Amino acid sequence: MAGMGRMGRGRAFSGKSATITTLCIVAAATVTPGLEAQQSDPSMRPLDGDGLVATAPVFPPVVPPSRYDDALTAGTRSLVGRPGAGYWQQAADYRIAVEIDPKTARLTGSETITYHNNSPDQLNSIVVRFYQNVFSEGVTRNRSVTLTGGIDLNRIAVNGLDLGELEAPRFENGRVVRPEGPGYRLDGTVAVVQLEEPLPTGGSVELEVDWGFTVSGGGGFRNGHLDNSVFNVAQWYPQVSVYDDVFGWDRSQYLGNGEFYVGYGRFEVDVTVPEGWVVVGTGMLQNPDEVLRPEQVRALRSAPALDTVIAVVSEGDLEAGNATRPSETGKLTWRFAADSVRDFAFAASDRYLWHVTGADTGNPGHRALIQNVYTPDNAHWSEATLYAKHAIEFFSDYILPYPYPQATAAMGPPQVNGMEYPMVTFITHRASGRGLNGVVTHELSHFWMPMIVGTKEMAYAWMDEGFTVFNTALAMDDWYETSDSRKGSMNGYLQAARFEAEVPIMRHTDYADNPFGRSVAAYSKPGTLLHSLRHMLGAERFDEFYRDYARTWAFKHPMPWDFFNMAEEAAGTDLDWFWQAWFYDTAVLDQAISEVRTTGEGVDVTVENLEWGVMPVEIRVGSGDGSTETVVLPASVWAGTRSVTTSVPFEGDVDQVVIDPDEWYPDIDRSNNSWKRPTS
Ligand SMILES: [Zn+2]
Repeated sequence: MAGMGRMGRGRAFSGKSATITTLCIVAAATVTPGLEAQQSDPSMRPLDGDGLVATAPVFPPVVPPSRYDDALTAGTRSLVGRPGAGYWQQAADYRIAVEIDPKTARLTGSETITYHNNSPDQLNSIVVRFYQNVFSEGVTRNRSVTLTGGIDLNRIAVNGLDLGELEAPRFENGRVVRPEGPGYRLDGTVAVVQLEEPLPTGGSVELEVDWGFTVSGGGGFRNGHLDNSVFNVAQWYPQVSVYDDVFGWDRSQYLGNGEFYVGYGRFEVDVTVPEGWVVVGTGMLQNPDEVLRPEQVRALRSAPALDTVIAVVSEGDLEAGNATRPSETGKLTWRFAADSVRDFAFAASDRYLWHVTGADTGNPGHRALIQNVYTPDNAHWSEATLYAKHAIEFFSDYILPYPYPQATAAMGPPQVNGMEYPMVTFITHRASGRGLNGVVTHELSHFWMPMIVGTKEMAYAWMDEGFTVFNTALAMDDWYETSDSRKGSMNGYLQAARFEAEVPIMRHTDYADNPFGRSVAAYSKPGTLLHSLRHMLGAERFDEFYRDYARTWAFKHPMPWDFFNMAEEAAGTDLDWFWQAWFYDTAVLDQAISEVRTTGEGVDVTVENLEWGVMPVEIRVGSGDGSTETVVLPASVWAGTRSVTTSVPFEGDVDQVVIDPDEWYPDIDRSNNSWKRPTS
C-alpha cells in the first residue's frame, strides 16, 4: 500500500487482470493457471441466489485511517514511507528528584517538565500520564493487580501557577458542560491539564508536579520490588503524553496489556537512596565520585575500553559493606542524565553485584559501557554481561550503531518479567545458558525498537515485539552458529492458528480477545512474517531496507503504514496482499502438492492452495544423487485460483519434490508439502 487508499491502488487479487508481479524470480518455463482462472471472473463463482462468493483468496487494498491520509496531504508523512518535508514532533525535557524509602517502598518525587510545542497547532491543554494509577481502585485495566492506592498527587503547577482539580464534564439540559480552566482533571491514568493561556506554535510551557506512591511488591507488573531489597522502578513519574501529526493527543488509558507511546527529550534525574544501595538506570551517572569509592570509579571509567568483565561491586564489597561510599546522612543521591530518550527507569538494591565491560558500537570512537547487576543468589546471572555485550555489538552491526553511552541488564523481581526502557532493562529469569541469553538479547534488542525507533507500540505491539522477536532470532543464530532460531516463533504462531486462537496483528493490542492470540499477534507471528518477507526480498535487499527504516525513523514516530510503504518501495512492488492476509486478517497458509507428472524434460508439479492465506511457492525437486533444482513462483500466481501447475526442468529422474523446503513460510500443514517417487 502507499496510503491514499481511498483511491483504490494495488488490488493484487482483483480478478483475471491481476498483475503477476515478480516478487521472486520465476525460474519455471510455464505456469498454467487452474480452471477457475480461465473463467470470466476467476475469483468468484455464482451462488444460487444473487450473490457471489470467493472461491480463492481475494484481498482488498490496504486503506489506512483517514487521519493518516490527512498527514500525507499535510506533508508530515510521505507516500514512500518516510517523514515528509513538514514532519514535526514534540519534545519534553524532565528534571526530576526522587527518593525511595526501601522500608516502606514509598517513592516521593518532584519534577519540572519543559514541554516544547513544535506542532503547527495552538494547544489549549496538555495530556499527562499517571501510569501508577493502574494500581488504584476503580480504574479500568485488563490485568489483575494488587492495589497500591496509585498516585498521591500533591501539586501540579503550570508556569508557576498552582492548579486546582476541575470537575468532570457533565450533561446539563442535554448539553455538555465543561468546567473552564485553568486546572486539571485526572481520570484513571490520564490527566488533562487545561492551560490558562493557549500554548502557541514554537512556545514552551513548564509543568511542575509533586507526587508519591507505594512501589508494588508482588501483584504488580513491569515494575516493583522484591523483599524491599531489589527495586525496579518504571512508569513512575508523571509523563507528558504524545501529541503527534497523525492522531493528535494520545488520551488512551494505560490498561496494562498494551505498552507505551512516548516522545523524546532530555532527562536529569536525581535518585536518593540509603548508602550501600546501588542505582543503575537510563542515562549516565553524573557524580560517580560522590557515591562510589575511588577504586570503583576507576573500574567504571575503564570498562568501556574492555572486552573482559570486571566488578564495580564484588561479593567481597557487598560483605564488607563497601558497595558505595559511606555517607554522613545515611543517604546518597545518584545523579543521572540522558539525551534523546523516550523514558527513564532505574533499578536499586542493597544486594546488587555490579559487573561491567565494553562494547564496540561500530561508531568510530564510541564504545558503550555494558553493565549487569544481579543478586548473589542468582549466580547464573553473571553470564548476562557477555550476552548483553554480544547483543549490543550484533544489533549495532545489523541495525544501526548503538547511539547511547551505556546499556544495562538489571535482574529484577518476578513481576517485572522482562521489560525494556532506554539503556536499561529489567529481567527476571531463572534459567541460565540459552534461555537467559535469549531473554537478555530480546530485551536489549528493544533498545533499538521501540527505544530508538519510537513506535506507538501501545496500539501496534507488533512494531515493538514482532521486530524484536525477528532481531533476536538473528542474534541467536550469530551466537550459536545456527540458522533456524526463527523456527521457535513460527511454531508458536502455528499453534495459535491451529487452535483458531488468532487475533489480527493490526488490532489494538489492548483489545485482543484472548491472551494467547494477543501474544502471538504481538510476538511470534510478526516475528515469523519478517523472516518470510526477508526471504521474499532476499536477505541483502531486506537488510538494506531494514537499516534504512531504522535510520530514517530513529528518534521519530513511524506508523504501520510508513513501514508498509517503505517495504513496498524496497520490494519494488505492491505488497497489499501480504499486509491484508497476514497483518489485517488471520488467513492461514496451506500449500500442498497434488500431482507430479514426469515429462521428457523434467516434471510438471501441481500445487494447491488449500487455505485462505497466500505466499510465494518455492518448489525444490531432487534426485537420489543429491542434485536439486528450485523454482520460485510469486504469490500473485494465486490470483483467482487455488491450483497452479508449473514445469520444472530437470536432467535425470526426479525422486522427490518439496514445497518450501527451508520453511520460510508458515505453512500450517507440512505433511502435504512433499512428494516421493513411489517405489515399484
Ligand atoms: Zn519484548
